[in-house]
Amino acid sequence: MSDTLMKALAFDNQVRVFVITATDTIEEARRRHDTWHTATAALGRTLVATALLSANLKGEDTLSVEVKGNGPIGSIHADGSPNGYIRGFVGNPHLALELNEAGKLDVSGAVGLPGTLSVRKHIHGGEPFSGQVALISGELGEDFTYYMAVSEQTPSAIGLSVLINPDESVKAAGGFMIQMLPDATEETIVAVENQLASLGRFSDLIDLGLTPEELLSKLVGEDNYKILAQNDIQFNCHCSHEYYGEQLTRIQAEDLTAMIEEDHGAEIICHYCNEKYHYSEEELVAILASKA
Ligand SMILES: [Zn+2]
Repeated sequence: MSDTLMKALAFDNQVRVFVITATDTIEEARRRHDTWHTATAALGRTLVATALLSANLKGEDTLSVEVKGNGPIGSIHADGSPNGYIRGFVGNPHLALELNEAGKLDVSGAVGLPGTLSVRKHIHGGEPFSGQVALISGELGEDFTYYMAVSEQTPSAIGLSVLINPDESVKAAGGFMIQMLPDATEETIVAVENQLASLGRFSDLIDLGLTPEELLSKLVGEDNYKILAQNDIQFNCHCSHEYYGEQLTRIQAEDLTAMIEEDHGAEIICHYCNEKYHYSEEELVAILASKA
């Protein structure tokens, strides 16, 4: 089954819910960047959050997330778009910290406080939006919840989960975002809180391999929701040989000449997806000529 983002309303349209299953997507990120378990968890949680935040974008809008703490992972970058394409990378992919006191992957140790969580939205044909908050935990679920409350004034509950197999592959990944709509009653808010409190650990539900609708049902209660839409989620970078060839035209002529004469070609590695692109000496000569 492919990864899915499901959008729904619950509690008589007073609550908006987004649920994501992202096991294949996060495994693809791990495979591309060769991340080790703590880095996989931190990157995976950030990618799931980015997909959740991107769910409300439209058309050609895009969104970028940066998590920057002072821990050993360095900074974490992720991009999302409303078609479900997400991509991202971390400063240090080869990070395998010991489990924390709770026996969990030590994401907050990897991220490190103090730090910031920044979100930039590029609205097609409109003003860009950006918001930034201080990291409050480094575990990322709480940090994205705090971001939504402070920067977007939308009270939300966000859960992010990535489980890793002993062989480092991704066992399961997913997440949810629950938002109170403006007309949510006090009774509904309490009901949602009770529902979440009785949920147990979301990672256990992800581990069971539940479908998005089964997760939705666990989150807000059976027959208490209306599914609005769903779309596929995948790790997808829009880079290409042509794209980076275009970037090469912006390099100074003397640097291009050095690549031609000394290296007889160039290799570019895309930060976001780790794809390698090779440019031959002949291609570089043509690029240099096009600058003249
Ligand atoms: Zn790429």
